[in-house]
Amino acid sequence: MEKVYLDHAATTPADPRVVEAMLPHFSKSFGNPSSMHSLGQEARTAVAEAREKVASLIGAASDEIIFTSGGTESDNLAIKGVGLANSHRGKHIVTTSVEHHAVEESCRYLEKQGFKVTLVGVDKDGLVDPRDVGKAVTPETILISVMHANNEVGTIQPIAEIGEIARERSIYFHTDAVQTVGHIPAKVDELGVDLLAIAAHKLYGPKGVGALYVRRGTRIVSFMHGGGQEQGLRASTENVPGVIGLGRAAEIAQAEMDAESRHVTRLRDRLIKGLLERIPQTRLNGHLTQRLPNNVNISVASVEGAALAVSLDLEGIAASTGSACRSEAMEPSHVLTALGVPGELARGSVRFSLGKHNTDSEIERVMETFPRIVSRLRAVSHV
Ligand SMILES: *Cc1c(COP(=O)(O)O)cnc(C)c1O
Repeated sequence: MEKVYLDHAATTPADPRVVEAMLPHFSKSFGNPSSMHSLGQEARTAVAEAREKVASLIGAASDEIIFTSGGTESDNLAIKGVGLANSHRGKHIVTTSVEHHAVEESCRYLEKQGFKVTLVGVDKDGLVDPRDVGKAVTPETILISVMHANNEVGTIQPIAEIGEIARERSIYFHTDAVQTVGHIPAKVDELGVDLLAIAAHKLYGPKGVGALYVRRGTRIVSFMHGGGQEQGLRASTENVPGVIGLGRAAEIAQAEMDAESRHVTRLRDRLIKGLLERIPQTRLNGHLTQRLPNNVNISVASVEGAALAVSLDLEGIAASTGSACRSEAMEPSHVLTALGVPGELARGSVRFSLGKHNTDSEIERVMETFPRIVSRLRAVSHV
């Protein structure tokens, strides 16, 4: 049975062109970029080229890109690094109730260090109101962190408007753009952000590598101490193959983003329409239009999301319930709770996240299979 992979928000397969670009950097051009000799200089040049590609994708300068081990480290470095470097100015952070755990837990850590954190809520579609962010700001606020798009429900936030508020008040502004970079336009000046987190494996690159954009002049401290790599912000020998992979993935995304987005949006809309029409007592979570091109998050009454995801898997369809990180927990996701989705519906939620390789016939298979699974599970749950 051919597998249908619809969990691209959790991770994407590496593009074969990305793997091809990485391979020479394991055993052939394997030098340490800090070495003086030519093998080292070769690696150094390759890393510099990758940095330019990542910078170009988000409209930054290459010296504003810090390579990290992924989205989680980028979020940690942004929040803890800026928080701790600016605590003399104030100890207040404004963020939202729908952030990824990497942001949420970094803020919680700073709370234990004496910071105050204000969580701005969202409306029923998962949208943050920029005015609420403005109201949450105090003279003590040093950092605002709002994700570009939500990984569970796909809602895209009004980042540029929040960026204006941050700039007016001279407050640093971070966005977790892990779900958007490479998929929809995410230019740092248009968004008005000072810090932006990227993970390679969410844009057809390898796992375990990412980047943090840090606007020039941003006060930030490192929590990785050692050699002075990455302008002193991220000591340790560079993950050269990984960085090359991220660079190539960024380059491919820049060239192919528009076509990919059109393709995926069309499949997404087919799937949303098909499932809502075929299954009674079903609703779409997240904003109808301010939405990632690849996200379909639906709640099905009277069924457990975990049972849905397991049944789908038995039929060769990979989807996810809530977010991958906490899928073993039976409590409804904090994101669906923040949207005000009633507990019973939130527990019956499934996320399909599409990718560039998905086809119409795969979507048709899901539209045929999923309603059948729901009927079967509902019949059992009503015994
Ligand atoms: C996947 C993801 C992360 C974490 O990225 P890793 O590279 O897995 O650490 C952070 N934020 C969002 C929105 C994500 O989707």
